[in-house]
Formats: sequence, C-alpha cells, structure tokens
Amino acid sequence: MTLNERNQLRINKTRLWSTLMDMAQIGATAKGGCNRQALTALDKAGRELFISWCREIGCEIRWDEIGNLFARYPGTDPNAGTILMSSHLDTQPTGGKFDGVYGVLGGLEVLRTLHDNQLTSRHPLEVAAWTNEEGARFTPACMGSGVWSGNLNLDSMLRVTDKDGISVAEALESCSYKGTIKAAPHNVSAAIELHIEQGPVLEKQNKEVGIVTGIQGLRWFTVTLTGIPCHAGPTPMEDRTDPVQPMAEIIKAAYAIAAENAPASRATIGEIITLPGSPNTVPETVVIRIDLRHQNAEIMNNMDRLFRQQVARICNEYAVDYALEEKWRMEVTSFNSTCISAVEEASALVGVSAMPIVSGAGHDSLYLSQRVPTSMIFIPCKNGISHNEAESITPEQAENGANVLLHTVLKLANN
Ligand SMILES: [Zn+2]
Repeated sequence: MTLNERNQLRINKTRLWSTLMDMAQIGATAKGGCNRQALTALDKAGRELFISWCREIGCEIRWDEIGNLFARYPGTDPNAGTILMSSHLDTQPTGGKFDGVYGVLGGLEVLRTLHDNQLTSRHPLEVAAWTNEEGARFTPACMGSGVWSGNLNLDSMLRVTDKDGISVAEALESCSYKGTIKAAPHNVSAAIELHIEQGPVLEKQNKEVGIVTGIQGLRWFTVTLTGIPCHAGPTPMEDRTDPVQPMAEIIKAAYAIAAENAPASRATIGEIITLPGSPNTVPETVVIRIDLRHQNAEIMNNMDRLFRQQVARICNEYAVDYALEEKWRMEVTSFNSTCISAVEEASALVGVSAMPIVSGAGHDSLYLSQRVPTSMIFIPCKNGISHNEAESITPEQAENGANVLLHTVLKLANN
C-alpha cells in the first residue's frame, strides 16, 4: 500500500455504530442507557463479546491479575513497543452507552480496518479494556490502570469489597478474569485513549475533535471552624463567636480565587455542615468541603496557596479556631508531546475540525501517562451529558474520532 493509499484509509462507520449498539444491549436500561458494572455477570458478557470480535480478526487475547484485558494485533517488528488503544467497558449504574466503551470499540474498529486492508504496522497494536474504571461497584475508580501503573497496590485492591461484601478477588474469580500475568507496564511505545468529552466545550465551539493536552489538577480541602454555641435570642451579635460568619467569607474567597483565574479555574463547595444543626443555636462547628481545580500546574499551586492564606486570615479576623485538611490532591497531568502532535496531524489528515482541550474528568490515561507516552482524543457528546442514561453521540461523531484514532495509531506505529 502506498503512503497516499494509506492516508485515504477510513474506518467503517456503519460497522462501528452497530458494534456500539450491540455492546449497549448488554446491561441495557429502560431509559436507553447501560448498567454494566465492573466484574458483574454483565461485564463478563460484555468482555466475552469483545473477545469474540477480536478473535475474528486474529488477535491474541490475554488478561492480567487484576483482569485488565488486552487484544494484540501483531506488527512486523516483534521487538517494537506496542501502540495501545485503551479505555474501559464497565459503566456507571445509570450510565450511558459510550463512556469508555467508545474508546475500546473504536480501537477494535481501527484493527478491523487494518485487517480489511491486510495492513500490518511495524509496531504491534493492542486494544485494552481496563478493569473497574468507573469505581461505582468497587472504590477507587481507575483500579485496573492504577494497579498496572504501580499507583495502586494489587493486594489491597483485591480486598476491596462492594456493598454486598463481595471482594474484587472473588468477583474476578466468578467472572473467570483473574489472570496470572503480572499487572505492570509491558513494552508500550504509546497509549492513546479515545473518549467522549463528558463536557460541553467541543459542542459549544462547534469542533469535531478535541486534541487532549492533559488533565486538570485538583485539591480537596476540608475546613472545620469552631465557635462557641449559644442561644439565638439572648446573645447579642457582638458577644458571639459564630463560625458561620467566617465560613461565608471563606466561601466567597474560594469563588473569588476561581474568578481571578478564570476561565480554566473551578471552585466547588460540595458540602456544608453546621453542628449541632439547630435553628435557634449558634453552631459550635462548621465543616465545609472545597474542590479547587486548574489545568496549569503553577496556577493550581497559586490557588492552593492563596486559599490557605485566606482561610488563615479570615479565621484570625473572626477569632475562631480552624483546621484545614487537604483530603486529596491530583497534580496537573500533561500528556506526551509526540502523542499530542500525532493526534493533531491525524485530525488534519482526516479533515476534521479540532481544538486543543484539557480533560476535566479523570481517566485511565492519567495513570498510564505516568509510565508510558500517552494522550487522548475527545469527541463531543450531546449537551455535554455523561454518567447519565441520556448520554448521546451521533454515528458521524463516532466516525470522526475513530478515523483520528486510526491515523494517530498509523503514525505512531510506523515510525
Ligand atoms: Zn470513561
């Protein structure tokens, strides 16, 4: 095949769509979504359908000790590192048909397209489905990629139980996906994850593809303020140590920090608790939980520092005791520049409109990028809705992203 012929290659839109719809029948919900949670009988059925499709085109199948599933399409150079196309097949309890699934079946469609054309790349290609990305049945999320990348401990993850007390180890056994291969990075040259955006940006900007450059960083803070409880009637305002007043200032400060660093900043006050929680008692304790995010590491650190300063200043001003705990931190993830360029060039070659974008949600790629060169491709989804049975994309949108994946992979797999 000449280079020109190779550049003309396109995936089969009808086949990709019917594959997505066939998979969506496993765990289909009345409202048109999907409930195929990790390591359930339905997840097993979904995995088996995927494996049967991969075997039809001659893939070798394997799974590791946390159930991560790999379908390998050999290259001409067996020593060359794999080009990985991966995402997840599990869903939220009231999930959609495309979150994760699109990335796995988009990868399959790339392999099918190469198979149709009897095309073999230099590097081997693999499509992978990571175990329990959603974290709905077993916490934490991104469990399979977390273990594979060395971020999560295998034995502790195998002991995690669902709400019925069934452990990950037991669920893997009952699905027959407890493999013997070690969950650890093998020889991978690049990892590309195709995914729906799960936000409204591409749709609003009228772009067909997002060239994902990284993932937002985040900080979770819990601030506990302690005042002196007293009667709401007899106690004059100036005689109170009321923790709600500084709380209000802290909330304002968090929103101001977001506004100063707009538009890429986020501040969310997800929880406010007053204790003892009585209408005619000034609370003794107030707890607020704050989520701050940004896509730039330096700005994220500044927001973090500024927020801590503001909390200290406000509590000092109101003379209340406080404790500020950092509950979770995710550093800003920057994807690999070679992988990002490959997606950019592939978008131009396919002729789709594309823009750079930063992911607001976490993905398996966050963990992968710590071990192997990684980037992602986004397509828009209707109204940016995801983790919802109403999650929706069109066959054309699915086609665009898969064509970009095809040419990204061809670039990376032939150099
Ligand atoms: Zn996902």
